[in-house]
Amino acid sequence: MISALVTEPGVPHSTRVEQVDEPRGDGVLLRVLEVGVCGTDREISEGLFGVAPEGADRLVMGHESLAVVARDGHGFSEGDLVCATVRRPCGHCLACDEGAPDSCLTGDYSERGITRLDGFARELVLEDPEQLVPIPRTLGRLGVLAEPASICARAVRHTLTIGGRQPWSPGRALVTGAGAVGLLSTLLLRLEGLDVCTASLEPANEIAAALGAEYVQIGEGTDLAELGRFDVVVEAAGDAQLMADALGLLRRSGVACLLGIDGRDGAVELSRHVIGVDAVLENRVLFGSVNAHRQDWVAAVDALDRARTGFPDALDRLVALRVPLDRFEEAFAFTGGKATLVVDEAAIVRP
Ligand code: BGC
Repeated sequence: MISALVTEPGVPHSTRVEQVDEPRGDGVLLRVLEVGVCGTDREISEGLFGVAPEGADRLVMGHESLAVVARDGHGFSEGDLVCATVRRPCGHCLACDEGAPDSCLTGDYSERGITRLDGFARELVLEDPEQLVPIPRTLGRLGVLAEPASICARAVRHTLTIGGRQPWSPGRALVTGAGAVGLLSTLLLRLEGLDVCTASLEPANEIAAALGAEYVQIGEGTDLAELGRFDVVVEAAGDAQLMADALGLLRRSGVACLLGIDGRDGAVELSRHVIGVDAVLENRVLFGSVNAHRQDWVAAVDALDRARTGFPDALDRLVALRVPLDRFEEAFAFTGGKATLVVDEAAIVRP
């Protein structure tokens, strides 16, 4: 038996560490080092999200993985550092057939640690070799940021593709929200050479500053229009009003990408002129993005590795809390940056 963090989807506060069976079957055997915690995990733990695997009433949590290969096979060697993708194809749509479950057309996909597939918050996992993404030794335990970075890499890739459908030269970006997704989006946009303004509730943000972004405190009553206009806006605060506001903050041909989630009831305000005139006459786009294609994982890992040297310090600070699996409640309650659950302290690699 092995230890795992499990929950009963739909049952608030049912999350607990429990002994589960060791994985059996084919695939690459992974010893999990660390899993990151995000808003989705919190929602699952609160009973608001998540689906257990067929025939089971509990779900092993954890979709932000960092693991080490436990035995040679399938082209991997014992000791290789890897992470694994989250979403698996539905099996009956064009996008999934073409290897792009991030663009699944049916919604019948499964996701490790989220929907219908057990996750990585356990000591051992068997994984399909095709779902593994190598993590360079130099990145070491910062590889745990690969999953959230892959979400941002997809967002940036789609933003640039959408903007690039017509002649366009983006120079200025706004990121709302300074959680892991906001800061990793900031990082990727900086690596693309954009000037970035990162806006969030805290008075200051050292990581945004270390990434070379301008940091702006925003809150109730802030008029974002005072920040000027942007070619790119990434909404990562999970505030539907900010999402609607993004459309009005764009320059001509600007693109706004929604990454946060705001599931609250109610309506938001959107100026008739912004959507009815400006968005049309200025060729603006507002779109949502979820999950990541394999190419985004590879790009994310590469960007993180480049950031280690380009922006020394910033990434180390981003993972602000590491606790063992049984202290999951602390990690879920933490709001000061990315929290992770250390599954195997002894096997943690150092760059
Ligand atoms: C994960 C994505 C996933 C999404 C929806 C996010 O937290 O990072 O991989 O697709 O939740 O379940």
